[in-house]
Amino acid sequence: MSKSIVATTSLAGCFGCHMSILDIDDRIIQLIELIEFNKSPFNDIKEFTKKCDIGIIEGGCCNSENIHILKQFRENCRILISLGECAIMGGLPAMRNGIPIKECLEEAYLNGPTVAENNTKKIMPNDDELPIILDRVYTCHEIVKIDYFLPGCPPRADLIWNALIALITGDDMKLPYEIVKFD
Ligand code: SF4
Repeated sequence: MSKSIVATTSLAGCFGCHMSILDIDDRIIQLIELIEFNKSPFNDIKEFTKKCDIGIIEGGCCNSENIHILKQFRENCRILISLGECAIMGGLPAMRNGIPIKECLEEAYLNGPTVAENNTKKIMPNDDELPIILDRVYTCHEIVKIDYFLPGCPPRADLIWNALIALITGDDMKLPYEIVKFD
Protein backbone atom coordinates (compact mmCIF):
# COMPACT_ATOMS: atom_id res chain seq x y z
CA MET A 1 0.00 0.00 0.00
CA SER A 2 1.43 3.40 -0.92
CA LYS A 3 1.75 5.89 1.89
CA SER A 4 -0.95 8.52 2.45
CA ILE A 5 0.33 12.07 2.37
CA VAL A 6 -0.66 14.13 5.42
CA ALA A 7 -0.25 17.86 6.08
CA THR A 8 -0.94 19.64 9.38
CA THR A 9 -1.04 23.24 10.53
CA SER A 10 -1.79 25.31 13.60
CA LEU A 11 -3.82 28.48 12.95
CA ALA A 12 -5.25 30.29 16.02
CA GLY A 13 -4.41 27.35 18.30
CA CYS A 14 -2.01 26.56 21.13
CA PHE A 15 -0.29 23.49 19.59
CA GLY A 16 -2.02 21.31 22.20
CA CYS A 17 -3.81 19.44 19.40
CA HIS A 18 -0.46 18.76 17.71
CA MET A 19 0.87 17.50 21.05
CA SER A 20 -2.12 15.17 21.20
CA ILE A 21 -1.15 13.71 17.81
CA LEU A 22 2.25 12.90 19.34
CA ASP A 23 0.44 11.35 22.33
CA ILE A 24 -0.19 8.23 20.21
CA ASP A 25 3.22 7.33 21.70
CA ASP A 26 4.96 4.32 20.13
CA ARG A 27 2.21 4.00 17.50
CA ILE A 28 4.02 6.88 15.80
CA ILE A 29 6.36 4.19 14.39
CA GLN A 30 3.38 2.41 12.82
CA LEU A 31 2.01 5.74 11.60
CA ILE A 32 5.24 6.63 9.84
CA GLU A 33 4.97 3.37 7.92
CA LEU A 34 1.49 4.33 6.75
CA ILE A 35 1.87 8.05 6.09
CA GLU A 36 4.35 10.62 4.89
CA PHE A 37 4.12 14.14 6.29
CA ASN A 38 4.18 17.03 3.85
CA LYS A 39 3.71 20.65 5.01
CA SER A 40 3.65 20.40 8.81
CA PRO A 41 5.28 21.76 11.97
CA PHE A 42 6.39 18.16 12.63
CA ASN A 43 8.96 18.25 9.83
CA ASP A 44 9.15 22.04 9.38
CA ILE A 45 8.19 21.79 5.68
CA LYS A 46 6.79 25.28 5.16
CA GLU A 47 5.19 24.97 1.71
CA PHE A 48 3.21 22.18 0.01
CA THR A 49 5.46 20.17 -2.30
CA LYS A 50 2.70 17.81 -3.50
CA LYS A 51 -1.04 17.22 -3.27
CA CYS A 52 -2.03 15.60 0.03
CA ASP A 53 -4.59 12.98 1.00
CA ILE A 54 -5.37 14.40 4.43
CA GLY A 55 -5.01 17.90 5.90
CA ILE A 56 -5.33 18.38 9.65
CA ILE A 57 -6.20 21.86 10.91
CA GLU A 58 -5.69 22.98 14.50
CA GLY A 59 -7.16 26.36 15.50
CA GLY A 60 -9.66 28.74 13.96
CA CYS A 61 -9.00 31.88 11.93
CA CYS A 62 -8.18 35.12 13.74
CA ASN A 63 -6.17 36.90 11.04
CA SER A 64 -5.65 37.16 7.28
CA GLU A 65 -2.74 34.71 7.29
CA ASN A 66 -4.89 32.01 8.96
CA ILE A 67 -7.47 32.41 6.16
CA HIS A 68 -4.78 32.22 3.47
CA ILE A 69 -3.26 29.02 4.93
CA LEU A 70 -6.66 27.38 5.47
CA LYS A 71 -7.58 28.03 1.82
CA GLN A 72 -4.20 26.59 0.74
CA PHE A 73 -4.98 23.44 2.74
CA ARG A 74 -8.40 23.12 1.12
CA GLU A 75 -6.81 23.49 -2.31
CA ASN A 76 -4.06 20.93 -1.65
CA CYS A 77 -5.77 18.31 0.55
CA ARG A 78 -8.41 15.85 -0.61
CA ILE A 79 -9.77 15.41 2.92
CA LEU A 80 -9.74 18.22 5.47
CA ILE A 81 -10.14 17.61 9.21
CA SER A 82 -10.93 20.24 11.85
CA LEU A 83 -9.02 19.02 14.90
CA GLY A 84 -10.12 20.29 18.31
CA GLU A 85 -12.46 22.91 19.72
CA CYS A 86 -10.55 25.93 18.40
CA ALA A 87 -10.87 24.72 14.80
CA ILE A 88 -14.46 23.55 15.27
CA MET A 89 -15.91 26.30 17.50
CA GLY A 90 -13.23 29.01 17.80
CA GLY A 91 -12.18 27.90 21.30
CA LEU A 92 -10.49 30.28 23.71
CA PRO A 93 -9.42 32.82 21.03
CA ALA A 94 -13.12 33.30 20.19
CA MET A 95 -13.73 34.74 23.67
CA ARG A 96 -12.99 38.08 22.03
CA ASN A 97 -15.88 37.68 19.61
CA GLY A 98 -18.32 39.61 21.79
CA ILE A 99 -15.96 42.58 22.13
CA PRO A 100 -15.40 45.20 19.39
CA ILE A 101 -11.98 44.76 17.78
CA LYS A 102 -10.96 48.37 18.60
CA GLU A 103 -11.57 47.67 22.31
CA CYS A 104 -9.53 44.42 22.13
CA LEU A 105 -6.56 46.18 20.51
CA GLU A 106 -6.66 49.08 22.96
CA GLU A 107 -6.72 46.69 25.92
CA ALA A 108 -3.87 44.60 24.47
CA TYR A 109 -1.56 47.43 23.44
CA LEU A 110 -2.58 50.65 25.20
CA ASN A 111 -4.60 50.19 28.38
CA GLY A 112 -3.91 46.69 29.75
CA PRO A 113 -2.13 46.55 33.15
CA THR A 114 1.07 45.14 31.67
CA VAL A 115 1.32 47.59 28.75
CA ALA A 116 -0.13 50.92 29.94
CA GLU A 117 3.05 52.02 31.72
CA ASN A 118 5.48 50.64 29.14
CA ASN A 119 3.88 51.76 25.88
CA THR A 120 4.20 55.45 26.67
CA LYS A 121 4.18 56.45 22.99
CA LYS A 122 0.86 54.60 22.54
CA ILE A 123 2.12 52.60 19.58
CA MET A 124 -0.08 49.93 17.99
CA PRO A 125 1.70 47.27 15.90
CA ASN A 126 1.48 48.59 12.35
CA ASP A 127 4.17 46.88 10.25
CA ASP A 128 2.95 46.08 6.72
CA GLU A 129 4.30 42.52 7.12
CA LEU A 130 1.89 41.74 9.95
CA PRO A 131 -1.27 39.79 9.10
CA ILE A 132 -4.48 41.79 9.39
CA ILE A 133 -6.51 40.87 12.45
CA LEU A 134 -10.10 39.86 11.64
CA ASP A 135 -13.23 41.43 13.15
CA ARG A 136 -13.81 38.15 15.01
CA VAL A 137 -12.44 34.60 15.19
CA TYR A 138 -13.98 32.35 12.53
CA THR A 139 -14.33 28.58 12.69
CA CYS A 140 -12.67 26.67 9.86
CA HIS A 141 -15.96 25.49 8.35
CA GLU A 142 -17.13 29.12 8.04
CA ILE A 143 -14.25 29.68 5.61
CA VAL A 144 -13.86 26.39 3.67
CA LYS A 145 -15.60 23.03 3.41
CA ILE A 146 -14.46 20.70 6.20
CA ASP A 147 -14.92 16.97 5.77
CA TYR A 148 -14.49 15.69 9.33
CA PHE A 149 -14.58 17.16 12.84
CA LEU A 150 -12.63 15.62 15.73
CA PRO A 151 -13.78 17.27 18.99
CA GLY A 152 -11.92 17.75 22.25
CA CYS A 153 -9.52 20.22 23.83
CA PRO A 154 -7.38 18.59 22.79
CA PRO A 155 -8.98 15.56 21.10
CA ARG A 156 -7.73 12.33 22.66
CA ALA A 157 -4.79 10.68 20.95
CA ASP A 158 -6.86 7.50 20.51
CA LEU A 159 -9.55 9.45 18.67
CA ILE A 160 -6.95 10.93 16.32
CA TRP A 161 -5.33 7.54 15.81
CA ASN A 162 -8.65 5.78 15.10
CA ALA A 163 -9.70 8.50 12.65
CA LEU A 164 -6.40 8.43 10.76
CA ILE A 165 -6.34 4.63 10.55
CA ALA A 166 -9.96 4.56 9.31
CA LEU A 167 -9.25 7.17 6.65
CA ILE A 168 -6.05 5.50 5.50
CA THR A 169 -7.37 1.93 5.43
CA GLY A 170 -10.99 2.66 4.48
CA ASP A 171 -12.20 0.64 7.50
CA ASP A 172 -15.02 1.86 9.77
CA MET A 173 -13.86 4.26 12.47
CA LYS A 174 -13.88 2.86 16.00
CA LEU A 175 -15.73 5.17 18.39
CA PRO A 176 -15.78 3.52 21.84
CA TYR A 177 -17.46 5.55 24.59
CA GLU A 178 -14.12 6.12 26.36
CA ILE A 179 -12.71 8.29 23.59
CA VAL A 180 -15.75 10.44 22.87
CA LYS A 181 -17.05 11.06 26.40
CA PHE A 182 -16.56 14.51 27.85
CA ASP A 183 -17.57 13.92 31.50
S1 SF4 B 1 -8.53 22.80 21.02
FE1 SF4 B 1 -7.49 23.04 22.99
S2 SF4 B 1 -5.54 22.00 22.69
FE2 SF4 B 1 -6.39 22.35 20.64
S3 SF4 B 1 -5.51 24.29 19.96
FE3 SF4 B 1 -7.45 24.77 20.97
S4 SF4 B 1 -6.92 25.23 23.11
FE4 SF4 B 1 -5.18 24.16 22.18
